[in-house]
Amino acid sequence: MKTSHHLDLNLAPNLSRREWLKLAGAGATYATLSGCSTLLPATRRGPPYARPLSSLPFSRPHIDATQISRVLVGLRPYRAAGFVVRGERVGDKIIIHNYGHGGGGITMSWGSSALAVAEAPDTAQKNAAVIGCGVMGLSTARLLQDRGWNVTIYAKDLPPNTTSNIAGGLWAPTSVFSPLSIDAAFAAQFRQALVLSHQLFSKLVNVPGYGVSQRENYYLNDSPKTAADYFYLRDYPELFPSIATLSPDDHPFASPYVMRHVSMLIEPSIYLPRLISDVNAAGGQIMVRAFQNLAELLTLDESVIFNCTGLGARELFNDTELTPIRGQVVLLPPDERVDYLTHGGGQGLLYMFPRADGILLGGAYERGDSHLEADADTTARMVREHVRAFQSMLI
Ligand SMILES: Cc1cc2nc3c(=O)[nH]c(=O)nc-3n(C[C@H](O)[C@H](O)[C@H](O)COP(=O)(O)OP(=O)(O)OC[C@H]3O[C@@H](n4cnc5c(N)ncnc54)[C@H](O)[C@@H]3O)c2cc1C
Repeated sequence: MKTSHHLDLNLAPNLSRREWLKLAGAGATYATLSGCSTLLPATRRGPPYARPLSSLPFSRPHIDATQISRVLVGLRPYRAAGFVVRGERVGDKIIIHNYGHGGGGITMSWGSSALAVAEAPDTAQKNAAVIGCGVMGLSTARLLQDRGWNVTIYAKDLPPNTTSNIAGGLWAPTSVFSPLSIDAAFAAQFRQALVLSHQLFSKLVNVPGYGVSQRENYYLNDSPKTAADYFYLRDYPELFPSIATLSPDDHPFASPYVMRHVSMLIEPSIYLPRLISDVNAAGGQIMVRAFQNLAELLTLDESVIFNCTGLGARELFNDTELTPIRGQVVLLPPDERVDYLTHGGGQGLLYMFPRADGILLGGAYERGDSHLEADADTTARMVREHVRAFQSMLI
């Protein structure tokens, strides 16, 4: 790491003059890494660092463009006004919608699906069709089965070819709605679904075969940020243990402002196949079938139909409020020594999640963009920014 003891006021847009003078008086070091700026005290205690969950020392992820195993693109099914969970009668069928969860569909899955299942009529004949085999369709199917329903899932694509497979898998409701566009009814529904989802996922933590674990999350910021800057940490602190703003002595990262919390990581490549086997074990059927329109859907034998089609609801139910937010993730070889998640640390909204199927790098949110080809510049940015973020770790 190249360091300089000269303070360059022009390179620190986010600090007031008073903050700079305070830091200069405390002997601050300004570190530059080819365009990446960090401001840290001249002396830091260094390792070992106290960690709330893990007994491992911090390890630096090995980020190397030549080691990329996969680059995946997915479209988050986003609605500014929030996801849709409601039942309606169409002809002699009851259709119950459960779609539009944006960048938080894994997170919301159990809770949202529980609300959807609660809309089911109390009939003697309990045969339901679930359209969609992503996380929402599978969770809905499981909850229906637990209530005594016979379930058939119909889907155009099955895992591993769903958006749910592209998800990073952090348990956090990010990009689920726009606060400016929601109404009070949705706010209440969201709260209920989030809390329920947390309860149900918590039961799966460390249960063999599900790929659900608790992880430390570190937010690497260039400007001061606290839990109050993230609505889910501010409004639901009880769901995110160990929230703390860390001093530079308490973490190994080069970023000047680091915040931490603990939350669950749900690994889609383990979790989704497990849900499929659970649905099968409970007597469910899964059929590959694409529906072109509502009329075709209404030809199904089942009188109760759950619409868990994600972005597919845009065409199928003409929901023009559904907007794709394009995402792209990069997978590098797995590294068991890295067990913490990071958010930020460079240009763009970056994240690094260590999973059994690899170290995953993300950080693409392109609203309204639905092209599914991987973008080489985006991959290069994710790799470059993460290399910068990790190379100067004090470990
Ligand atoms: C890059 C990226 C990172 C993400 N990270 C996270 C994260 O860390 N945490 C988190 O909680 N969420 C995350 N998400 C969001 C999450 O992936 C989605 O919200 C979630 O997968 C939506 O699930 P779903 O079941 O509604 O949709 P999908 O997984 O898209 O499933 C929809 C199903 O419906 C079927 N279908 C659609 N139309 C039809 C039709 N006409 N006929 C028949 N079948 C049809 C599809 O084939 C599919 O089986 C991320 C998303 C992306 C893209």
